[in-house]
This record gives sequence, structure tokens and C-alpha cells, in this order.
Amino acid sequence: MSFMLILVINCGSSSVKLALFHHDDPNPVATGMVDCIGTDSISGSYRIGHEPSKEIHCPANGDHAEALDAALTGLRSEPALNNLTVTAVGHRIVHGGQKFSAPVLVDAETLAAIRELAPLAPVHAVPNALGIEAAIRLFPEVPQVAVFDTAFHQTIEPQVYRYAIPEELYRKHRIRRYGFHGTSHAYVAGEAARRLNLELNNCRLLSAHLGNGCSATAILNGESVDTSMGLTPLEGLVMGTRSGNVDPNLHNYLAKEAGLKLEEITDLLNRKSGLTGLSGISNDFRVLTQKFNEGNQAAQLAIEVFCFRLARELAGLTVALKGMPDALIFTGGIGENSPLVRAKTITHLAAFGFQLDPDKNETAGSNSMGIVSSPHGPTAIVVPTNEEFAIARATIALGLP
Ligand code: ADP
Repeated sequence: MSFMLILVINCGSSSVKLALFHHDDPNPVATGMVDCIGTDSISGSYRIGHEPSKEIHCPANGDHAEALDAALTGLRSEPALNNLTVTAVGHRIVHGGQKFSAPVLVDAETLAAIRELAPLAPVHAVPNALGIEAAIRLFPEVPQVAVFDTAFHQTIEPQVYRYAIPEELYRKHRIRRYGFHGTSHAYVAGEAARRLNLELNNCRLLSAHLGNGCSATAILNGESVDTSMGLTPLEGLVMGTRSGNVDPNLHNYLAKEAGLKLEEITDLLNRKSGLTGLSGISNDFRVLTQKFNEGNQAAQLAIEVFCFRLARELAGLTVALKGMPDALIFTGGIGENSPLVRAKTITHLAAFGFQLDPDKNETAGSNSMGIVSSPHGPTAIVVPTNEEFAIARATIALGLP
């Protein structure tokens, strides 16, 4: 039997994650990951469904194409997948600038445009392009589709996306707010509307994607109308290791008072701040929750700041909804799994009428609807995200004849 599968690739600077989907099944047939690409510690693993994971034999110092090839060789060695035929490939691309407002079929022009966006996404654009090139080499006959994290937010208006800085910086350097996690926000909005029997194109939603990176979005009638991330994914909420919003004068202050260089400040705000910086313990929310429960004051402060800032952002985003939200969606590793964060955030939003249902909140994972609020106010709901499947769906929509 031959399997027609959609391969979804998420290529980072030194890692590649992949997932294989049957056409409309949201549960991946297989997933895989290769890390430390380009070094002699390159390693990887894959798993079929929920079976235990197996090692991928990667060539030392292998590049992205060799890593992908090794992962696929591993998958094809499985009896269940040895007739594996990849029908189309979907790529997660972090930055689409102002050029891409929807997924596109990849051609030479698309690739050049993604590379050209490198100044806006220095960490991601080049590996994203490498992933596409590697996949084209491995599957030259197969349609390849690029799905952009920024695309969903291209509907936001100038009053929302422009910064109050000289206009020429926007014109010459494309400095504006773009927003990220668009694939996730769009996916959970669709899922929430379906579960709650709302018409997606006639409702007001707030979406909080809380993973290692965190962002919140206002979705009016199915379109993004405001979002917390900006030019880069550093703006907005407190995240695992990212600061989110700080006073824009902080760079100047730190340079003068602490003698830090530009790259050191960038590193500090991206990798040493957020929950890690506030707590001095970890960016892992499971660890912080345990410390919180043990009475650790630094962990408690980190979680209080995280939730307060989230609630404040959600309150601000409501302006763009032009009315009270019909539902607030929690998603991402923290949003899906932390009753503590949901309880604190919903409590902060009491002025909007939100009321927690403490029992439902504790069991949101096993409660099929995922509702965690009482029926006396707007709905708060947990919807697991599935960005890979959303990319697979977009790939099917564009890539299959
Ligand atoms: P990424 O942005 O890398 O995709 P995830 O969406 O997987 O991240 O979210 C990772 C975060 O979710 C981590 O902070 C992790 O600790 C947290 N998380 C995962 N499971 C739980 C849990 N059971 N309880 C609380 N936090 C959790």
C-alpha cells in the first residue's frame, strides 16, 4: 500500500522539525526532529504516532538537506511507511514582511523574496530558505508551499501597525508592527468558533498563544485586527526568555549604566529575560509552577507578572474588537496546560465580565469542549493549537492539483 502524505517542515538555524499528515487527519502519522545541524553533535529522532521514539542516523556535520534526508530514511525504514510518497511539502516561514498575506506556492521568486526579508528576521529567514532548498532537492517534482507566521496579521490597519517614529523609517526600512504566530491564532480561532457554534466571520475573539514565545491577538469576523508582537517577536507579552515590552530607552540606559554592547543587550532581552530573568530559575512553566506551589517568591512574582501583563494586553486588544469579546482562547504549551495562568488571567479580566469556573478550569484538558468560564460571562476556552496541521491544510489547499 502506498501512502500519500503531506510533509510539513519547520527549519531553524540548527534544527529541523518535520511532521507527516494524511490528508485531513490532524494527528500526524509521524514526527521527527534533527538538532545541532552542521556540527559533529548532530542528532535526531522520529516517532510513528504515539510509539516510542527512535534514533535518526545523521551524518556528522550534515547540512539541512542531509538532516532531512536522514530523517526520511529513518521513517522509510519503518514497515508501516516504506512506501511513503510525499505528495506536497509545506514550510513554516517566520517572516513574510508586507509581501505575503497568504500561503504561496514556492517558486524562484518566492525563495528570493524570503531571502530578501532576512534583515527583518535575521535568525529565521536564512534557515527557512535553506529548508525550502533542501526539500526542493529531495522532492523536485512535488509542490512546495510556504506558510508565513506573519500572513494572518496583514489585515491589521495602519493605525494599529505603525510606530510613532519618523515616516521614512517605515518607507525605507519597513519598520512597522507585523505580528507572529498567525498560523496558530487563525487555527484556534476557527476551532473555537466551530466548538462554540459561532460564525467565524461574525464574532469577536481574543486569542492567547502561550508557549515559549507568547502573543495575543484580537480577531474580528475572522480577521486579525491587532496583535501583541511587532516588528520582531520580542514585542508584547512576557515570554519564556524574552522580555516583551520594556521602555525603549532601556538600550541607552544599559549601555551607559552597565557598559553593555548592543549585541549583549539584544541577547539579554531575548535569551535571559522573561520568566527566566524574573524568576532566576527557569523558563519551563512546569518547574515554575512547582516552585510557585512550594512558596518560592521569585517564581510567584514571575507568574504574577506574566499573568498581569497578559490580562493587560488582552484588555488593550479589546479596543480593536469594537465590542465585548464573544470568547477568549487559551492555547500553546502554557495556555493549554496551566490552570494557574488561566485562573489568574481570567480573574484580572473581571471588568469584562469573565468569570472562572474553577472545576472546569482544572479539567480543561479532558473536557472535550475546553470551556473554563462560567456561563454568566463571556466564554474562556482552551483550544490545543496544531500549527503543523494548519500548514498541512494550507499546503493541500494550494499544492494539490
Ligand atoms: P513552543 O513555543 O516551543 O512550541 P510550547 O507551546 O510547547 O512551546 O510550550 C512550552 C511551554 O509550555 C513551556 O514553558 C512548558 O513548561 C509549558 N508546559 C508544557 N506542559 C505544561 C504543563 N503540564 N503545565 C504547565 N506548563 C506546561
